[in-house]
Amino acid sequence: MAPQRTMSEEELRERVRALLDEAHPDEVDQFTFRGAQFDHGLAWVHFPEGLGGLGLSPKMQAVVNDELRKHAKRVYEDLMVNPIGIGMGAPTLLAYGPEELKKPLLRRIFTGEDIWCQLFSEPGAGSDVAGLATRAVRDGDDWIVNGQKVWTTLAHVAKWGMLLARTNPDVPKHEGLSYFLLDMKSPGVEVRPLYQITGEAEFNEVFLNDVRIPHRYMLGKEGEGWKVAITTLMNERTALGGGSSRKGGGPIAVLVQLWQERGRDSLSPARRAVLRDHITQLYIESELLRLTALRARAAQKSGHPGPEGSVGKLAQAELYKRIWECGLDVLGAEGLVYEAGYERRRPTGFGRGDALSLAKYQFLRSRANSIEGGTSEVMRNILGERVLGLPQEPRVDKGVPWKDVPRSG
Ligand SMILES: Cc1cc2nc3c(=O)[nH]c(=O)nc-3n(C[C@H](O)[C@H](O)[C@H](O)COP(=O)(O)OP(=O)(O)OC[C@H]3O[C@@H](n4cnc5c(N)ncnc54)[C@H](O)[C@@H]3O)c2cc1C
Repeated sequence: MAPQRTMSEEELRERVRALLDEAHPDEVDQFTFRGAQFDHGLAWVHFPEGLGGLGLSPKMQAVVNDELRKHAKRVYEDLMVNPIGIGMGAPTLLAYGPEELKKPLLRRIFTGEDIWCQLFSEPGAGSDVAGLATRAVRDGDDWIVNGQKVWTTLAHVAKWGMLLARTNPDVPKHEGLSYFLLDMKSPGVEVRPLYQITGEAEFNEVFLNDVRIPHRYMLGKEGEGWKVAITTLMNERTALGGGSSRKGGGPIAVLVQLWQERGRDSLSPARRAVLRDHITQLYIESELLRLTALRARAAQKSGHPGPEGSVGKLAQAELYKRIWECGLDVLGAEGLVYEAGYERRRPTGFGRGDALSLAKYQFLRSRANSIEGGTSEVMRNILGERVLGLPQEPRVDKGVPWKDVPRSG
């Protein structure tokens, strides 16, 4: 999305101050404040006017955030509330949504009133998501959907789902898909929790039995679902591989805090030296990731998320696993004790607690980092083929109608 207009930094800061005069995050709730932020065009400044933005360069968002931080004690961290809606739903809706849906849905995504989920993966189609089997059949002004999705994060609290379904089984797999917005409260949608090693049921199985979706909720055209899905997936990689925007922030900040509070003085000199070297190395890699993520975010906001997203996703997944493993090294035996209260729960967003409980939780949670949003193996394939130009993997289903491709189950 090319910026349509320019504005001086001071003018933008004045707009933020006008927003704060009308609604101040220290005085009103999240929905009221973020609703006003959207209406002032300060939600995503690079979005068009009237849709939460001002048509400015994406770099100007940093000015807004800086001014907000200067004048308010409370900062509403958007990705914690509605990560899939903000990171993936909004850009997809902006690019492909029907005009009449854009404004009301984008506003509620930004405020967090509507949580979004992503209904792509199926029991037989994860890495090979274009091979999915959920069927959508046209019936007058509606589509009737039958199938099963899996690993659907936040489906239990979601109002809207981004659903990829097969509308034509007679053409090769990528060509027969369409993309829908599914109202998760529709009759026939059944959401069942799946528990992870952390004890949380963050994601779900979703069963779709004769679910009706009005045709106007199709994003893009019939059969264009893969193209729309790519927009979602590229934004997912950038959102997931986004690192921390603050130097020394994110997981590495927690590790350094643990080291200062618990590791440094209680370890033997030899162990202390080895761990200090290890943490320094992880700090350097975190900084490299942050800088790559800045580039990826700029590309995403310009409407053209590029391979930096896959680089960032791959690097972050592997790095975060190592950071949290190191956290356990710092903690020693204490890191293996999970206190009472660590039993099953259903989160409504992400982010939790003090450094100690965060480190213990994240050691378990980070196992999923190299699976969710595309596995590290698949990221390497994408980078090898599309960025480095290496020979492609053999593809036995190329050009074959989906219905003729052998599959198990
Ligand atoms: C915490 C979490 C949250 C998730 N949330 C969502 C969500 O909200 N919505 C959603 O739709 N999905 C979600 N997923 C699903 C996720 O996208 C898939 O798990 C992922 O794409 C892998 O698919 P799969 O599980 O079917 O594994 P498979 O594709 O069966 O892969 C199994 C193994 O084979 C490897 N492999 C597969 N193909 C290749 C290849 N071509 N080359 C080399 N190796 C290969 C994989 O890397 C992996 O190690 C989530 C997953 C997790 C863990």
